Amino acid sequence: MLDNRNFPSQAFLSTKKLEDHAVKDVLVTTNLGVTYGRNLDQVEAIRKIDFIARQGEFICIVGPSGCGKTTLLKSLAGLLEPTKGETFVNGKKVDGPPSDLALVFQEYTRSLLPWLTVEKNITFPLHAKGISKEEIHKRSTSALEEVGLSGFAKKYPWQLSGGMQQRVAIARAIAYQASVLLMDEPFASVDAQTRADLEDLVLKIQRDSGVTIVFVTHDIDESIYLADRVVVLTQRPTTVKREFEINLIKPRDQITTKSHPDFIKLRAEVIGLIQNERSKSQHKIENNE
Ligand code: ADP
Ligand code: MG
Repeated sequence: MLDNRNFPSQAFLSTKKLEDHAVKDVLVTTNLGVTYGRNLDQVEAIRKIDFIARQGEFICIVGPSGCGKTTLLKSLAGLLEPTKGETFVNGKKVDGPPSDLALVFQEYTRSLLPWLTVEKNITFPLHAKGISKEEIHKRSTSALEEVGLSGFAKKYPWQLSGGMQQRVAIARAIAYQASVLLMDEPFASVDAQTRADLEDLVLKIQRDSGVTIVFVTHDIDESIYLADRVVVLTQRPTTVKREFEINLIKPRDQITTKSHPDFIKLRAEVIGLIQNERSKSQHKIENNE
């Protein structure tokens, strides 16, 4: 899907005016920093993050627990104002939630409204977009079909399993037709088999729609399985430690991809980097730094 796998260097980013980025650079974030609180209570979560997500790219972000992954997604989504730096979605600076961006969080029980049916959960954000009733119905029907939940439109979230509820959250994002989908550990609370099914579902949706996905996970196997590129973050205050291009054959397959020698090699490399970061933060705690 990508025509050019060589991503611009930091030097390129700083010399090129951000507004000049081609539209295919769907999400551009530069010099992003987030510090929570003030004075003595300050917590510097993100020191400096720069990255570009290109149209149709699947990016996975991994890093030690508590390093700032959720903080990063929240600021990309315009839900949290960064202390420094900027994010552009389709060339427009983010200064609130962009209309062409959708989010799926881990906590599906909190993201779906229990008093609305599955269908209404999917359609309520569309009413605010000024879309006709017929179009809204069409989008919701086809999104439910795409996630394998045709026939569940009139059910309530609490009548569905965790995996099915997460499918509804994905259907809502599909119906919204966003060009960027941000996902924060979306499959962390479902069982292994459901998780594998949901991974394959998201890959299929991405293939069919060409949506750009930025997906946070603490599961390294999942990150390599899904991604075109894995971005590894350092411990807090976080920066980008390393990026890996994942050139494993597509479509990916739970058995053949995960047993491929390149997969196993990448997995060991990423695990090594994260373990190294974890031991640094352990050292900091032990030395009271
Ligand atoms: P991750 O998602 O990688 O586990 P988070 O982005 O949730 O990490 O948190 C990064 C750091 O910022 C953690 O040390 C966390 O305690 C801190 N943090 C997160 N949210 C807040 C907040 N609202 N106020 C103060 N500190 C916060
Ligand atoms: Mg998190």
